[in-house]
Amino acid sequence: MGKGGENGEKRNYRPATQVVRAGRDPFEHEGFVNTPIYRGSTVLSPDVDHFLGKKGRFVYGRRGTPTTAALADAIAGLEGGAGAALTPSGLSAITTAITAVARSGDHILVTDTAYGPTRHFCDTLLAAMGVETTYYDPVVGAAIADLFRPNTRAIYLESPGSLSFELQDVPAIAAASKQRGAAVLMDNTWATPLYFRPHEHGVDLSIQAGTKYLGGHADLNLGTISATGEWWPKVKEAAGTLGLCPGPEDAFLALRGLRTLAVRLERHMQSGLAIANWLAGRPEVKQVLHPALATHPQHAIWKRDFHGACGLFSVVLKPRPQAAVAAFIDELELFGIGASWGGYESLAIPFDCAKFRTATRWNPGGPTVRFHIGLEDADDLIADLERGLKRLAAA
Ligand SMILES: *Cc1c(COP(=O)(O)O)cnc(C)c1O
Repeated sequence: MGKGGENGEKRNYRPATQVVRAGRDPFEHEGFVNTPIYRGSTVLSPDVDHFLGKKGRFVYGRRGTPTTAALADAIAGLEGGAGAALTPSGLSAITTAITAVARSGDHILVTDTAYGPTRHFCDTLLAAMGVETTYYDPVVGAAIADLFRPNTRAIYLESPGSLSFELQDVPAIAAASKQRGAAVLMDNTWATPLYFRPHEHGVDLSIQAGTKYLGGHADLNLGTISATGEWWPKVKEAAGTLGLCPGPEDAFLALRGLRTLAVRLERHMQSGLAIANWLAGRPEVKQVLHPALATHPQHAIWKRDFHGACGLFSVVLKPRPQAAVAAFIDELELFGIGASWGGYESLAIPFDCAKFRTATRWNPGGPTVRFHIGLEDADDLIADLERGLKRLAAA
């Protein structure tokens, strides 16, 4: 037992080894390398005693199958959490995590750079449930202490912000929150647990949109919440009560994506850095917003806390009319125009944070474009961008 799977001796394997082994035991499945797709709602018991005592590891499809359990175990192991819940989308992981910690009459703090639909949830359903949200400046650091109220139950971080890339001082914010008994939640989709380890920096609930790099192929939606021992029972209870379960194919695809996560991220990082550096030298570009570049305002935090960078970053262009930006993006051959990221393909979209920010002002001084650098050859991507920047200048 254990050869090729997880059930051997417990060793401190490095992340690239963990993603290959985690949540897998071939000899539970006749020696087949991958945990198969189990489809099913009903789970039969051998007798009444077993049924009434809920003695099986699996009792009902919604509560877990060998396929989803393999993924949940792998995520909890990789994150270093006491347990992990799976949800059908990244957004439902976020709404479930917040619902698990906040009650009517509570107040929560949310970063001004939170993913748009997270804000929407806080401003609508969460508000209707009697929970008040205050948005805060992501670079607030230890001064977050001033924003706590007696009823502040949780703080929600996302670092870096996935459009504007401000980094948060997670350990300082987590320390201030712990002192006041508030739960620390973080959307860690950008870094994944390979490049930033939330629980090691004081985060209680670590959230990922598995839709992005975990899936890695733009073919599924999935969310994960890993929780520390203190919070895992609450997360498990909330996810179970809400009735959330990802489909079996999506769980299987996420497990498949997990196996290549380390090599894919490495390539996304290398190509992303090459292209970010190339863009930084272009006359059309005012500023590159990439945490791993020394010019990034919070680069010191990235160096201190992160093990790598994914393929997602933005640029501020020198002032040009919107039509020129469209001429740049529209004719790019290798960059699709689309929301989401983390797949093998490159993307480019215009964006404007001024539309939704409330705690901070967004005034970058030129049009902004977000890139996702995929797994294509970086030189081909650069050549495509070079043709695009010529169109930008000529338009
Ligand atoms: C995409 C994304 C989500 C939501 O994931 P879905 O599966 O689309 O619901 C949450 N947070 C971040 C940072 C994302 O990029």
